[in-house]
Amino acid sequence: MTLSSYAVELSDLRMRAAMFYGPNNLVVEEKKMTYDKNDVVLKVDVCAVCGYDSRVYRNGHKKVKPPLVLGHEICGTILTEINTDYGVIRSGTRVAVSPVIPCLSCKLCFKHQYNLCNNLREIGSTVDGGFAEYVKIPQQIIKIGGLVEVPDNLKSEEAALLEPLACCLNGFSHLKKVGPESTVLIIGDGPIGLLHLQISKKLYHAKTAVVGKIPSRIQRAKAIGADEVFMFDDGTARQVMSFTDGHGADLVIVATSSPDALGFATKVAAKNSNINIFSGFPNDNRFSIDPNWLHYNQVSITGSFSSTPEMLQKAARLASDGKIDLSKIISHRYSLDNITQAILDTSEFHGLRVVIDRF
Ligand SMILES: [Zn+2]
Ligand SMILES: [Zn+2]
Repeated sequence: MTLSSYAVELSDLRMRAAMFYGPNNLVVEEKKMTYDKNDVVLKVDVCAVCGYDSRVYRNGHKKVKPPLVLGHEICGTILTEINTDYGVIRSGTRVAVSPVIPCLSCKLCFKHQYNLCNNLREIGSTVDGGFAEYVKIPQQIIKIGGLVEVPDNLKSEEAALLEPLACCLNGFSHLKKVGPESTVLIIGDGPIGLLHLQISKKLYHAKTAVVGKIPSRIQRAKAIGADEVFMFDDGTARQVMSFTDGHGADLVIVATSSPDALGFATKVAAKNSNINIFSGFPNDNRFSIDPNWLHYNQVSITGSFSSTPEMLQKAARLASDGKIDLSKIISHRYSLDNITQAILDTSEFHGLRVVIDRF
């Protein structure tokens, strides 16, 4: 079947989708999908709810122009065979999706840093995403290898979490050296904090602690293998200093959108350490820092955002090999009709990752 006949055949595809019309206004309704011959259409099997989705639901976001379908942590099935530069993907193949849509013509795209593209568009943020029966995949994603085949031994709900795992791997790839001698402090006990924890312990064998605010999540962090866990309060900085023999942590990963985390990170970072701001924050957050503290202690503060297809492929290998267990991160499963509840669970920190697995 050619792409054009495929396009004609599916041009009046109707589907159910969760339409975001603005803050606190999400409606599940029938929607017509429009697309051209360059688009590939996936049937969505599972789409996970990211903290980003819950922030957009509550407050909107400057990137998001409603009406729009949110959702970027997607496992879907290819409806028709696709020829790519990386080989043929047969119809019926399950794929994880890299949601970044690069322009392929800016300086960063030439360097394959597609997540930083100067003209970046994103599935579930600037174009319709995965909280729907079907999602359209622009040709740029196919070109950069952004559809990654899901290994047979991974469930579709695990495959939906390959995208956030890829983002965490991207974060680690920009850090100063990390290894068995390092102490790592993860601020945030949510799904992203616990993915960082697995990477830190299983891939780098670092001495790792997690700071959080939700007792059940803190217990989960301990069960997953944290060397120490701390409930966040006025005494936590002192406890972290004692955990690190008075030096502070070599790597501090901010995996929460709580503004408290930034000032706290500067209290527990060691000399020559790296603080990575992994999470996005609510709009208009600012935090101040003493430049002399950075200078005299040789501290680096970095950020990391999203991921590249290369990281998504690496995520698939690590999950398939059992090095990272994504099933430990999933707590609730909902149908698309209950998407608002799924998003509220996420924003109210009930459980861990919530997935939409019935459409
Ligand atoms: Zn996400
Ligand atoms: Zn670009």
